[in-house]
Amino acid sequence: MKKVRRRCKNPDCREWFNPAFQNQTWCSAECGTVIALAKREKDRQKSIQEAERRRREETQQEKRHTKIRKLALQPLSHFHKQAQSAFNEYIRTRDSGNPCISCGRNTGAKMNAGHYRTVGASKETRYDETNCHLQCEHCNSYLSGNIGEYKPRLITKIGQEAFDRLVGPHTLKKWTREELQELAAHYRQKTRELIKQRGEAA
Ligand SMILES: [Zn+2]
Ligand SMILES: [Zn+2]
Repeated sequence: MKKVRRRCKNPDCREWFNPAFQNQTWCSAECGTVIALAKREKDRQKSIQEAERRRREETQQEKRHTKIRKLALQPLSHFHKQAQSAFNEYIRTRDSGNPCISCGRNTGAKMNAGHYRTVGASKETRYDETNCHLQCEHCNSYLSGNIGEYKPRLITKIGQEAFDRLVGPHTLKKWTREELQELAAHYRQKTRELIKQRGEAA
């Protein structure tokens, strides 16, 4: 073996030396100890960091699992509530600035998303965009939707054909939790996009 001079890896030494074997990086036994201890400390720190990272990952995974378990225990109505709330927010955003679909007034008071065919009476059309429009609190809550006034303005807005389809028969979809979560996400996304579009147009 051709011997090549090396510099000691001990940062406090850095002396030139003639290595006795291939992997020798220290000039003396003392420097060998310093280097070995430094390496041991570095490995120890690394394993501590690794353990911390694993613990954090496990905690996060546990949180995710708890959330999934909690959701699995929720009744289907919980997911309908979430989806309906996202859908209604989209309707309010879509119709924002419009007058009430029933009384035609724009009072500046609180406006709701009002279903023409009510959710209670027609589950089939609760997520039908032609069935839900901006409505004032008065018509929505106190006049139970003010349906008599709703109808002519609804026909004007969506057209006779869409109206006939809306009041016609619909099949009742059997929703799963996952589908309702997707529906809620879909409407949250639609609302965000609408707000973004308007922000760009303004
Ligand atoms: Zn040395
Ligand atoms: Zn009204």
